[in-house]
Amino acid sequence: MNIIFLGAPGAGKGTQAEIVSEKFAIPTVSTGNIIRAALKNGTEMGLKAKSYIDAGLLVPDDVVIGIIRERLAEDDCKNGFILDGFPRTIPQAEALEEMGVVIDKVVDIDVADEAIVARLSGRRVCKSCGSSYHIDYKKPAVDGVCDVCGGELIQRADDAPETVLNRLHVYHEQTEPLKSYYASKEKLVTVKGQEKVADTTALTLRALEEQA
Ligand code: ADP
Ligand code: ZN
Repeated sequence: MNIIFLGAPGAGKGTQAEIVSEKFAIPTVSTGNIIRAALKNGTEMGLKAKSYIDAGLLVPDDVVIGIIRERLAEDDCKNGFILDGFPRTIPQAEALEEMGVVIDKVVDIDVADEAIVARLSGRRVCKSCGSSYHIDYKKPAVDGVCDVCGGELIQRADDAPETVLNRLHVYHEQTEPLKSYYASKEKLVTVKGQEKVADTTALTLRALEEQA
């Protein structure tokens, strides 16, 4: 099964993607994580992406399309995959089609803007493995320490309040049109994001089963 998770930044699509990934034993491909890893390693692509990310803007289509093309060609994607954070523009969705990728389902995690701002300001990520937490909604067992790898939890620079408003604006302008794009192809299912992760997961799994 090839699945896309759509949603505003901080809607919880990454968290849902990881859970479904484990349950269905297919990899999650997160363009955000791939770009951040490139940044950390100081690659040319990472350097090119940095100014866009820091400003809360989208990285240019050709860059992310190249990332996805390479990643989906890897062996572990043969039996299905979950896309988290891609596509984010109509041209990216068209590029996916041109690659011959068939998408089975697009899950839109729907969360109101007001809630998004609160969620992103409380989000913390592991400096080492990138796992995501929240100071109220998804606390680690030990404050400031990653449950998965013991790494240090930090706030992402692009989760700063000024940048968050930019990212939301960009989401509405460039990414939200993908909802009607996939609705017209009868692939879109909408999940109302709940306060508790487990409640959202229950809705997500139900939405994925409907068609399967
Ligand atoms: P979030 O969903 O919380 O915004 P991501 O980790 O998915 O976080 O993305 C972080 C940043 O990486 C984005 O704001 C953007 O600059 C860049 N990025 C990630 N995926 C894409 C994409 N598909 N197209 C363009 N830019 C992207
Ligand atoms: Zn970690």
